[in-house]
Amino acid sequence: MPSFVYAEKCDGCKGQARTACQYICPNDLMALNKEIMKAFNQEPELCWECFSCVKICPQQAIEVRHYADFAPLGASVIPLRGSDSIMWTIKFRDGRLKRFKFKTRTSAEGSIEPYDGAPAGSPGDLASPNFFTEAGKTLPVPTR
Ligand code: SF4
Ligand code: SF4
Repeated sequence: MPSFVYAEKCDGCKGQARTACQYICPNDLMALNKEIMKAFNQEPELCWECFSCVKICPQQAIEVRHYADFAPLGASVIPLRGSDSIMWTIKFRDGRLKRFKFKTRTSAEGSIEPYDGAPAGSPGDLASPNFFTEAGKTLPVPTR
């Protein structure tokens, strides 16, 4: 079932130009009602239940009604993001709570050097059929 917003929790991301849920949705489904500053899923039938909006919402205002194969029917599944971990709270319909905490990063934020040790590129590489990291990067370019 698609994402939905608990209106009483949503604060419209405090009136920023673009809300967090609008920013993250890969399908561009989230919209903001600026009169009441509440977000909503404008095309629920197109939601692929990816949980991105659920995880990014700073107010924990979005939920996706999950399938019974990973949590029992009637349960709610709410994440709380930290700087290096995410805590999932499962609330069962009989009121029981279970929490699972997972590490989301193993290095300090900003410390990754993605091109460390990679060869310098050149404009001619754009015509190469090889990938950037592919061995034999200097293979001849086929002529047509
Ligand atoms: S991210 Fe959460 S708080 Fe922000 S607008 Fe969307 S639902 Fe509301
Ligand atoms: S669950 Fe994914 S596809 Fe659905 S509204 Fe949220 S971010 Fe978009």
